[in-house]
Amino acid sequence: MTKLLEIDQLSIEFANASGPIRVVSGISLALESGQTLGIVGESGSGKSVTSLSVMRLLPSGLARVVEGDIRLRGQSLLDMSESQMQKVRGNQIATIFQEPMTALNPVFKIGRQIRESIRQHSKKGKKEAHQQSIELLSEVGISSPEQIMEVYPHQLSGGMRQRVMIAMAMASNPEILIADEPTTALDVTIQAQILDLMRKLQKVRGTAIILITHDLGVVAETCDRVCVMYAGQIVEQGDVQSLFKNPKHPYTVGLLNSMPQFSGEMERLQAIAGQVPHPSEFAAGCRFASRCPSKMDVCEHIDPAFYDMNDGHSCKCHLYREVTNVAYS
Ligand code: SF4
Ligand code: MG
Repeated sequence: MTKLLEIDQLSIEFANASGPIRVVSGISLALESGQTLGIVGESGSGKSVTSLSVMRLLPSGLARVVEGDIRLRGQSLLDMSESQMQKVRGNQIATIFQEPMTALNPVFKIGRQIRESIRQHSKKGKKEAHQQSIELLSEVGISSPEQIMEVYPHQLSGGMRQRVMIAMAMASNPEILIADEPTTALDVTIQAQILDLMRKLQKVRGTAIILITHDLGVVAETCDRVCVMYAGQIVEQGDVQSLFKNPKHPYTVGLLNSMPQFSGEMERLQAIAGQVPHPSEFAAGCRFASRCPSKMDVCEHIDPAFYDMNDGHSCKCHLYREVTNVAYS
């Protein structure tokens, strides 16, 4: 069966005075219809760059895809003309970002902005677009949509702005919603409401979601599958249950240990010592070696292959080289 979205051995480089720097190296993942896929990692792991490349929105002249492919229902997005790609953006794939203030125009009222995003993707007249804006705003849980249509973005709270952004993203009923840290700027209660809303929309509309986050708690609550990224590579991926119950990669284990536990007793959180290395300093061997408590000699010199654990749970780490099959290297 053709996957909805497939990223196949994708590598991305940034231009730099002393030569190109590879910020994403050979990542592969797939998204099925109606599924929520989490991409999790610390900042600098390459999550946002990956999602920008799916939209073909990498800053031109600065960053480019140098290897691999991105396919929507089997069709390469990288081969499309800019006008074909414009149809994909918004119609089939929509995005929401961490700070909706940057995506909303501060000088126009909310109503006008939603109407315009509807009319960009359809042949609807002003009146029809107005009616649909009201419906969309109620669908995202805004109780007095007519009133909200008449205000400016700065008059809304962060949570309300994010609801408006989701309404705009949903205007064209996209097959895929890419949400890059959609709740990071919000407080915990509002964060839970927005995640709830995304789950609800997905159920009603069947939208597939790529959720980019540094927060494993958000992944646990929202996603079906998860890819863990570290230093421009995917280091582990699998079903959420399998990965949370039985994490394999020492980095994933570290991330899980640094999550607050709600078991009743307060346990001391273990942060992973050190930082994601800068792309110009990625090691030849395993990129996590400088922070890994299980490091072996081989890790410093040889980049580990991807090993298959079970049912699509795989992990890029030498610890598993004896016991499992190579998924790919
Ligand atoms: Fe740690 Fe080695 Fe596995 Fe890398 S390959 S995560 S250094 S054990
Ligand atoms: Mg980011």
